[in-house]
Amino acid sequence: MKISPFPEVDSILRQAGLCDCLWVAPSSMTVSQWVRMKCMFGCPDYGKNASCPPHVPSVQECRELLGEYSHAVLIHLVCDVHSEERGSWCASYQKLLVEAERQVFLAGHEKAFLLSFDNCNLCGECTADPRDCRLPYMRRPTMEAFAIDVYSSVRRLGYSISVKKDREEKPDRFALLLVE
Ligand code: SF4
Repeated sequence: MKISPFPEVDSILRQAGLCDCLWVAPSSMTVSQWVRMKCMFGCPDYGKNASCPPHVPSVQECRELLGEYSHAVLIHLVCDVHSEERGSWCASYQKLLVEAERQVFLAGHEKAFLLSFDNCNLCGECTADPRDCRLPYMRRPTMEAFAIDVYSSVRRLGYSISVKKDREEKPDRFALLLVE
């Protein structure tokens, strides 16, 4: 956990209604090859979403990108809607987070970059190919797509998170806003 280096960023996040935020060192995120393997084998969306593997940098490149930042804000969200409303909940928070990233950029942090909490579903049905993305300025990878082991990374920071066994359990979601 870090002291906030940029109060203006805190203010942008607060105004967006993002209240559970924690400044962290990007290097505190664990990047692991096994996370990418889970995307490649077992995920029904592999190759079907333009924000996900295989349309992302290599695990090594993801690790290197985190190394180019000194600061990040971990944003915790709890999806507290019924399972059939999760798609629209995710889309509305994706928009909100991308707009917060834009505000941080406009505040002078030109390197601001969002790793989102869920694969992009802004269009309902994804084109699956980044070259055909309908909203390329809003397309962002997830933390998992960047091979971040979210479970162990956030547990080390004090969050209790566990695998949900029932679709009606409210899932914890995490996004990471990289800032310099
Ligand atoms: S904006 Fe649409 S086409 Fe682009 S990644 Fe998101 S869902 Fe897919």
